Order: sequence, then C-alpha cells, then structure tokens
Amino acid sequence: MLLQDFGARVLCATPSYALAIAEVAEKEGVDLRRSKLRIGIFGAEPWSEAMRKEIQRRLGLKAIDLYGLSEILGPGVACECEEAQAGLHGWEDHFIFEVIDPESGKPVAEGAQGELVITTLTKEALPMLRYRTRDVTRLSTERCACGRSHVRIKRITGRNDDMLIIRGVNVYPSQVEAALVGVPDVAPHYQLVVERKGAMDHLTVEVEIAPGSAAAHPMVAQSVKHNIKSLIGVTAEVIVKQPGEVPRSMGKAVRVRDLRPRQP
Ligand SMILES: [Zn+2]
Repeated sequence: MLLQDFGARVLCATPSYALAIAEVAEKEGVDLRRSKLRIGIFGAEPWSEAMRKEIQRRLGLKAIDLYGLSEILGPGVACECEEAQAGLHGWEDHFIFEVIDPESGKPVAEGAQGELVITTLTKEALPMLRYRTRDVTRLSTERCACGRSHVRIKRITGRNDDMLIIRGVNVYPSQVEAALVGVPDVAPHYQLVVERKGAMDHLTVEVEIAPGSAAAHPMVAQSVKHNIKSLIGVTAEVIVKQPGEVPRSMGKAVRVRDLRPRQP
C-alpha cells in the first residue's frame, strides 16, 4: 500500500484494535506515522492514559476518547476535544449526566468517583430516565481549555461489573494496563486470569514481549510484577509470552478470564 494513497484523516476504532492495526502495519513495513491520519477517535472499551500515549506514538495521530452506549444512542454521547484531550464533553442539550454512589443510588459530590447515570432529553420512542450505565467515572463542570462549557465526563476507568476483587483489593483491568504500558520490552496486549487456589484468589497477568526485543523474559516479568504491586497493591504472577500469543479481538478486547467458581 502506498501511504500517499491512504487518504483517510480520521481513524475510528476500539483502542485495542488500533494497536492491532499498528502491529500489522509495523510487521508489513508500513510506517503509519507517515500517513495522512491526523485524528483517532477511540472508544467502546476502557483505556488508560498510557495506552493513549502508546497509540499516538505508533500511529502518529492525536488519540481522542469517545463515549457512547447502544442503550442511549451508540457512539457520540460524549467526546473529547482535540485541543485539550482532557475529558469527554457531554452533550448536555441532549442528556443529563449524573454520577451516583452505586450502593446508595444517591448522587456523589462533583469530582467524586461513582457510576455514571444518563437521562435522555430529546430521544424519542425509547427515552431513558436515569439509566445506570455501570461505567465508573467522575464529572467536572470546570470550563475546558477549548472554551466549551458542557460538563466533562472524566476517563471511564472501568465498569462496576468489570471490577475484580483480588484478595480484598479492587482491581480494574485498566489499572493493570497503565502499569504495564510503560514497561520497556512489553507489547500493550494483555489478559488477566483469575483463579481460586485453595481459599486464595490468584491473579496471573499474561503479557507479550515486544516484537524484536531481546530482553530476558524473567527480567521483563519482574518489572511488570513490580509495577503492578506498586501501582495497584496486588501481587500478580506475570507470564511473558511471545509476540502474537495473547489473543487479539476484532471488537472489544477481552481483558479478563475469571475462572473462579461462581458463588452459589
Ligand atoms: Zn474541550
């Protein structure tokens, strides 16, 4: 493919799929940083700031966050601006956004973390009143550097039902992602495997060595383990796999394999 023929300026995908595209391009010797791609709009799964930097570096574009859910209208409920990349501008002329305590159902103070709740104002036929999204985030009414004044939904850090409790510690896959994206020699593909060993939860994080890296796997495993422990406070076993061994997804990435027996 000749890069000058690739005229698209905007790429819209899940963040994990954007990285899969980067990976294939690198393997084929195509430098996407020299393409005309300028903006990437990524959503449909939680992703970290570290992942944003990685995508921007490898695809040579500005990566902005998009939020939506099919129950409301699909992608486009809120989107970051390219000027600030600092939270998703919620379209308040169409929606009311609230953040609540998932236990009590009461709204939390502005800036506190909780579950995002959306009410539609202009949706016809199937309006939604205080729809509980299960997505965990914070709201800010501070004016954005771009000048827009609509409420900003901060980065979605996970879903209520995504949260793993490992030996009493709350763990979101996006935290593990942030812990490993900065480690040299590690590719940003990973899966969390949770098992019950005796009475204890056991977390294994499967990561991949970066293509072309000559680093010793045990050394890489040790760095990832250290980062996870210091950032999240949980001890994990880390398995370093060969490039391509962690399963890729065409849609939303599957980050967790929870093999613990279900509670009766
Ligand atoms: Zn803005």
